[in-house]
Amino acid sequence: MKWALIGASNIASQWMVDAIRASGDDIVAVVSGDQTRASAFAAKHEIPHAFDNENALEKLGIEAVYISNTNEKHEAAVLRAAAAGQHVLCEKPLATEFQAAVRMAKACDDAGVVMVTNHHLRHNAGHRAMRAQVAAGQLGRLSSVRLSHSVYLPKPIQGWRLTDRAAGGGVVLDIAVHNADSLAFILGEYPTHVCAMTSNTGMASELEDNAMSIWRFASGVTAFTHQGFNTPFAETHLQIHGDAGSLHATGVLSQAPGGVVALSNVDGRTELPLDSDNLYQRVVKNMHAAIAGQPHVNADGWAGVRSLAVAHAVLRSAESGQTVEVTYG
Ligand code: NDP
Repeated sequence: MKWALIGASNIASQWMVDAIRASGDDIVAVVSGDQTRASAFAAKHEIPHAFDNENALEKLGIEAVYISNTNEKHEAAVLRAAAAGQHVLCEKPLATEFQAAVRMAKACDDAGVVMVTNHHLRHNAGHRAMRAQVAAGQLGRLSSVRLSHSVYLPKPIQGWRLTDRAAGGGVVLDIAVHNADSLAFILGEYPTHVCAMTSNTGMASELEDNAMSIWRFASGVTAFTHQGFNTPFAETHLQIHGDAGSLHATGVLSQAPGGVVALSNVDGRTELPLDSDNLYQRVVKNMHAAIAGQPHVNADGWAGVRSLAVAHAVLRSAESGQTVEVTYG
């Protein structure tokens, strides 16, 4: 498949160029808002074409785009790609505005192209193992979840995330969307209500760099979730508790493969076997399956819409001081 990259971003450079090529696909062009940056990115990654606008893609036979510019720019890029009949892999959060995300998913449906939201975490082996344990009833009746996804934002990407709400800055839009998708993948449901508090601990300017919230699900499960940019020494973890067992995972909320998942029950504590598949390569592989009309486990466009709805509910709750209903539209 022939790809164009929309956005000369860090994530494209660090992970997605290799992930796309690993499935045998070609990256034909990169588009940036700045020609010099596009050309430098193309030279670094040996991409034949570099442009400062997407119109230049027209005659290149592009079949799919990977969109990783800042979040307020995703919508225009998705709508253009859908109109051109190109499949879409779009970064999270899909957009800053909820209705923009809805328009994006709908445009791809209407155009008959596959849309994937790059919620990579559900491809971590730990997530897949936990989903299988929950689905097999190993935990009995589920009661609660504790998810700690507080990290330290690495220096090279301490830009718009800390300063620019219009670009989708703040820890909630950046990380809570991932947590919503992870829990939806593992539990098979999205929260109905959210109660949240956020704070600025001095790392971000006028945006939240720390957020804690409690999510309630229709099944009765409650989840405590912690998102942070500001904890250099924290470890991430995810625990799922039921009346017949608990799952304890560490290191499964990460870009790199790895982590440990253990099941505790009346028989004691058993570590589950995990593979070390590259998460982003699995996204691209599953996108190929989706394009071929085969079953796949990617987050589609509507999954990206729903994860954004949860993040917006977290922000609304924190702002209002009230428990709020998540509005999925
Ligand atoms: P970057 O800040 O690296 O890139 C975003 C945009 O910023 C680029 O597309 C580029 O615009 C512009 N930019 C990059 N470098 C410079 C520079 N030196 N000077 C001026 N502008 C620059 O963002 P990330 O890679 O961190 O994130 C991009 C997207 O990917 C976001 O949507 C983010 O939420 C998502 N993301 C997803 C992850 C995942 O695991 N799914 C992980 C990390 C990010 P232009 O294209 O115009 O050149």
